[in-house]
Amino acid sequence: MIELDNVHKSFGANRVIRGITTHVSKGEVVCIIGPSGSGKSTILRCINGLEGYDSGSIRFEGIPVNRTAKSITAVRTQVSMVFQRFNLFPHRTALENVIEGPIFVKREPRADAQAHGRLLLERVGLADKVGAHPHELSGGQQQRVAIARALAMRPKAILFDEPTSALDPELVGDVLAVMRSLADEGMTMVVVTHEIGFAREVADRVLFLDGGVIAEEGPAAEILTDPRNPRTQDFLRRVL
Ligand code: ADP
Ligand code: MG
Repeated sequence: MIELDNVHKSFGANRVIRGITTHVSKGEVVCIIGPSGSGKSTILRCINGLEGYDSGSIRFEGIPVNRTAKSITAVRTQVSMVFQRFNLFPHRTALENVIEGPIFVKREPRADAQAHGRLLLERVGLADKVGAHPHELSGGQQQRVAIARALAMRPKAILFDEPTSALDPELVGDVLAVMRSLADEGMTMVVVTHEIGFAREVADRVLFLDGGVIAEEGPAAEILTDPRNPRTQDFLRRVL
């Protein structure tokens, strides 16, 4: 579904992504772990066209991801992103946040978008918060609204960028539970996370990113339990 071939990306002289080649299959859950500054957010942003890349190629279902309008529309409507800081519209209710994309990007009729939006808010455990504004919600609830918003686009894949790292510890579990249920239903997911327990349980594959390259990659059980690379070992020792 997602193919990266020797992707490079610099910000000025800062070579942030230095030759990443990997793929994500339909229905697969891939977790990306790695130290701060290793390029995790940048590579996610490149995958859905929020950021351009300098060389190599990224394809989504065979469509080249590049900065042309055609590609951006194709990819953005099929790949949703969930951010660390939720990025909800502060002056709109939960439901209004959820239906924005379907109405304005996908041109769905408002009534359809609202009906689907209510179902999605129910599914993330927020049936009673449809009319609440972000400031009336906890961080964990806001992030679940953000996940409902991502689902409202009926995406083929969802990219998560540290979705629980801005949350108080007691709110992390509810968000991970929603993510786990999506994975169980076969959603294709790429998840940047420091939640090693979640990665171990849910990920099919784990990538350890270090200095803009994949330093180690393999089945979750292998990478997280018995890493070969000393850098991975060191990283896991710090986060566990
Ligand atoms: P991570 O998510 O793994 O912490 P990032 O992908 O956010 O890492 O950042 C990797 C490197 O790219 C860092 O050195 C960061 O400062 C730099 N960087 C990220 N985004 C930008 C940007 N928009 N402009 C300039 N430098 C950036
Ligand atoms: Mg990041």
